[in-house]
Amino acid sequence: MISSSPHLENGSPVMNRNWTPGSWRNMPVKHIPADYPDPQALARVERELAHLPALVSAEETRRLRAALGQVAEGKAFLLQGGDCAESFQEFTPGNVRDTLRLLLQMAVVLTFAKGRPVVKIGRIAGQFAKPRSSPVETRGAITLPAYRGDNINGMGFTPQERTPNPERLLKAHQQSSATLELVRAFAREGYEALSDPRHWKIDHPLAAPIQDSLGFMRSLLGNPEEQHTGLDRLDFYTSHEALLLNVEEALTRLEPATGEWYDTSAHMLWIGERTRQLDGGHVEFMRGIQNPIGLKCGPGMDPDELLRLMDVLNPQAVPGKLVLIGRFGADKAAERLPRLMAATRRDGRPVVWSIDPMHGNTHTAANGYKTRPFERILSEVRTFTQVATAEGVHPGGLHLEMTGQDVTECLGGACAVSEADLSRRYLTHCDPRLNADQALQLAFLVAEHLQT
Ligand code: PEP
Ligand code: MN
Repeated sequence: MISSSPHLENGSPVMNRNWTPGSWRNMPVKHIPADYPDPQALARVERELAHLPALVSAEETRRLRAALGQVAEGKAFLLQGGDCAESFQEFTPGNVRDTLRLLLQMAVVLTFAKGRPVVKIGRIAGQFAKPRSSPVETRGAITLPAYRGDNINGMGFTPQERTPNPERLLKAHQQSSATLELVRAFAREGYEALSDPRHWKIDHPLAAPIQDSLGFMRSLLGNPEEQHTGLDRLDFYTSHEALLLNVEEALTRLEPATGEWYDTSAHMLWIGERTRQLDGGHVEFMRGIQNPIGLKCGPGMDPDELLRLMDVLNPQAVPGKLVLIGRFGADKAAERLPRLMAATRRDGRPVVWSIDPMHGNTHTAANGYKTRPFERILSEVRTFTQVATAEGVHPGGLHLEMTGQDVTECLGGACAVSEADLSRRYLTHCDPRLNADQALQLAFLVAEHLQT
């Protein structure tokens, strides 16, 4: 039998089964709430979402895929970052602008170091649903359902807040749409205004040369603001974890001109570490859409499993289609990553290799706050680059939980956040994020590391 899927058994690869935006409903799924008190109200909201306009266009999504194809070839770098979980409460135009500005500043630093374009993707405009390690939370004598993201339930520790409410899906969609409008508006204001390094607080030897070369470019090319008009020109894209498949299904549309399906809720979607089962609904849904797909690869993944997932998720080996996002933890990366990278190199199909140095480096501080030490985050990125170089793979990207705000959620960095500082500005709705100073410092340190 001739098969383009050498790693699937029995001659009946998953991908030969008929796919529809709803075919995931026949498969087992994890982390999708099944406890809505009124399932009919949920079904009504799903129908309403299916009639709302697309958030992003197929054309933009294809452009991102092509840009990621360049990353897979080693000609560009990927920077993906934003909140662990967006929230209704923390949503302001200022916060969106600050996150965007930070991502652009980091991209300037990384571009300078690599001499290559940086593809910028936000964890933004749709990152609302969280898989949780425990379905419940206990405080004292009271146990309630865990908080699962603002599009499912609320953070407040009351039975009412923690009950899933479908109306939240509409509110999250509205906020995503408003966020995209803001991003497009800030982009029109100009790249220059958002990323101007003259306003950077960070003191790093690379800052001065970057300012000099930007000044040089300005005089050579004229005012860059005139050349960057709109989201397209800014090359900024959106992404979130495709966790709530009912919502993704509702936003997935057929493009008549090509006969292809695009999930129009974001340019890129990713599959989380807890929902990447080969026979599960999340992989089933993702195999049918044309968007670039991220796949979180944790310490438990073995090379054979990865190759099978590649067969299903990118059977045509389209460049830029698949972004592998390692998330091992600083102490496990050196042991777990080489065999995965060796497998993709031997396999030969194009993939982007990126590193998420956040999710394997979380611990609970003595005072009860969930946190991540800057040093461990940096260490995992360094291991990633070293392993990639040794395996002959392009260390293509960085995936971060970060915010433009001055929060105290991760320990250390130049701003030296201590355990006692954590309570000061701990604003995250889920995992601890790098603050603006820590994120920019990380970009400088990674840039330095990549140059050597
Ligand atoms: C996340 O990116 O917020 C997340 C939950 O990651 P992971 O699936 O890698 O644990
Ligand atoms: Mn997270």
